[in-house]
Amino acid sequence: MDLTQNVKAVQEKISAAAIAAGRDPASVSLCAATKVQTDDAIRAAIAAGIRVCGENRVQELAAHLESDAYAGAEVHFIGHLQTNKVKQVVGRVALIHSVDSERLLRAIDGQAQKLDIVQDILLEVNVAREESKGGVLPENLPTLAKAALGCPHVRLRGLMAIPPVSTVSGENRKYFAQMRHFLVDIIGKMSDNHTIVDCLSMGMSGDYEDAIAEGATLVRVGTALFGPRPPLAGSAH
Ligand SMILES: *Cc1c(COP(=O)(O)O)cnc(C)c1O
Repeated sequence: MDLTQNVKAVQEKISAAAIAAGRDPASVSLCAATKVQTDDAIRAAIAAGIRVCGENRVQELAAHLESDAYAGAEVHFIGHLQTNKVKQVVGRVALIHSVDSERLLRAIDGQAQKLDIVQDILLEVNVAREESKGGVLPENLPTLAKAALGCPHVRLRGLMAIPPVSTVSGENRKYFAQMRHFLVDIIGKMSDNHTIVDCLSMGMSGDYEDAIAEGATLVRVGTALFGPRPPLAGSAH
């Protein structure tokens, strides 16, 4: 396992997938999913060229921030977020990927107001309608998006999805295509045109090339960079 080589290989595959889809490779960013990684592994990934780290758990985020492990990279929160933990996340990350309820949205907006900032967020969509997963169901997305656009201390930047784990090429493409349509829908319904809603966070180690083919602008990759993780007790994703 060579982290530097893995980063280079994934970046090359991202570029190739973008070009194959007729897209500018610069329109796709790599977010390294750093759950369970050590400070040293995160620093090594950043030294190897990672510019965005995605953290899943509030506790790990706090620990890595404390030790300044993300220096040189942007940090995103990509895991399930509980309303009572927004204080530990809002204002500390550039983007929260996983907003999936009006309650969480209001809590983030309230905390951002206290800090006098505007927090960038994505809405997580349960695109495959999996019971075990977070995310708003597609039919409830327009209402949540409207609520987000009405929150003065939140800036809606786009959508995120975690479809079923896939290792078979093409398997999740239909879900990625649906996500692209959902984003186009939201943009079409927006009356103000000063908000840039253009972010599609989708695709993981097993399927990021398919996600890019369908318009992903941010792929979240862990295993293909850091190698297999030890199983996480009690983790849904
Ligand atoms: C762990 C994780 C990833 C990366 O998964 P891999 O299959 O290891 O690439 C992406 N997104 C989220 C939300 C994750 O929790």
